[in-house]
Amino acid sequence: MKKKSTKNILTYTMIAIALIATYVTINSYYTQLAIYQEKELFKLDCIANAVAYKISGEEHSGLVDKYPSQALLDQVKKDSIFMKIYQQMFMAKEMTKVPSSMFTVVKDSASNKFVKVISTNDNEWLSELSGKSRQPDSVYTKGGMIGLYEAEDGLHLGALSPVMSGEGEVVGMLQVEESFDSFMSKAQGQIYTNLMITLVFVIVIGILMFLSVKNILKRQEKLAEEKLELENFRRELLANISHDLRTPLAGIHGYIETLLIKKDSLDEATREKYLSTTLQGTDKLKTLVDELFELSKLESKETTIHIEPFYIQDLVHDIANQFKLSGSEKGVGICVESPEQLPLVKADLALIDRVLHNLLSNALKYCSKGDKVTIGVREVAGKIQISVTDTGSGIAAEDIPHLFDRFYKGRSSQPGTGLGLAIVKNILVLHDSQYQVQSVLGEGTQFTFSLNI
Ligand code: ADP
Repeated sequence: MKKKSTKNILTYTMIAIALIATYVTINSYYTQLAIYQEKELFKLDCIANAVAYKISGEEHSGLVDKYPSQALLDQVKKDSIFMKIYQQMFMAKEMTKVPSSMFTVVKDSASNKFVKVISTNDNEWLSELSGKSRQPDSVYTKGGMIGLYEAEDGLHLGALSPVMSGEGEVVGMLQVEESFDSFMSKAQGQIYTNLMITLVFVIVIGILMFLSVKNILKRQEKLAEEKLELENFRRELLANISHDLRTPLAGIHGYIETLLIKKDSLDEATREKYLSTTLQGTDKLKTLVDELFELSKLESKETTIHIEPFYIQDLVHDIANQFKLSGSEKGVGICVESPEQLPLVKADLALIDRVLHNLLSNALKYCSKGDKVTIGVREVAGKIQISVTDTGSGIAAEDIPHLFDRFYKGRSSQPGTGLGLAIVKNILVLHDSQYQVQSVLGEGTQFTFSLNI
């Protein structure tokens, strides 16, 4: 996945999270406001019901008959029944801490309008309910909660409850109201606290979401990189294999063709030469195919490792003997340096044989007449350390880090597949072995690896 598209996805994720956070915050604010408003209305309704029940009776309607005009306010205030009802309302208002007014309402039959009768606000005797604070008639006759409504002095919440006569007749309505500002000043603290909690929650979830998206994208990016690497490797591998196969195949093809065309015109010695060159070519092919097969089995972890105890010095002597003949033909001495007594190693004998075989054939390959190859075995820090040292051509410092790569051939290399050390590395990795190379160009090379005991 490209870096730019990853960046884009992360930006979109951030925008989406910010939008969700904004939506949730606004939504939560209005939902909470509605809930608190409902609760407050219910409270006002309960208060209205309780006070209306307390002041029920004939007297309320009787008062309007007795003092039918606003001009009679001074007289009304001296009336004991008025005072009784007024005090009941006043006390209820004080006790319930309703911050706005409480008043009773009746329909003035003369004007056919709703008017205030007794009010906790002074001087409202028979004042007309009009304008914005006026509710639909049905509310004044049945009662109920009144959601947000606009009065002269701003927004209000309220509730109405009927005031009944002894005979169960509605003689007026008791209205309790609260200004929206005073409601908000009480509710705001709670709403904002809840809002902060919601916001923190949304932000935490947002951060977690962002981090997981980032993580997924990072993993995808890594996978894409690995895929590309694998693809490059596959291409490189194919190019290497086809190159290494083509050269010996072309030789074999050429010699067989010549043998067929020239048939009888070739003398015995030349035919012999051609045939042995063809054989060398097929040997090369066989080695390459065998090593490729072996390496692919090791790399795909198909090789099962059979750990068994054995004496490494015995194996080392065996291999040294096998190589002695080709060594002496080349004028290269092979010797083993090992103490008589050594603990048994625990390893796969066949695979370690392969390691030593590859290291020794390399050592011989890069030695010339008069050089020496030494296989050393010794116990170091609870392990057996095996070294193959030669006094041959040595390796350039720039080649050393790549020696164990597949198909890697050093700059002054002899013919070979470039797979021998890759096979060695894979076998040693299977054995959890520590291995290293030390080499000085022109002086010689030492490969060392350890085995468990
Ligand atoms: P190859 O089949 O080419 O020998 P290897 O994987 O065995 O492949 O070795 C990789 C390269 O390491 C060789 O091409 C050579 O350059 C270098 N090399 C390995 N062993 C020695 C050695 N003992 N002395 C010098 N060079 C060596």
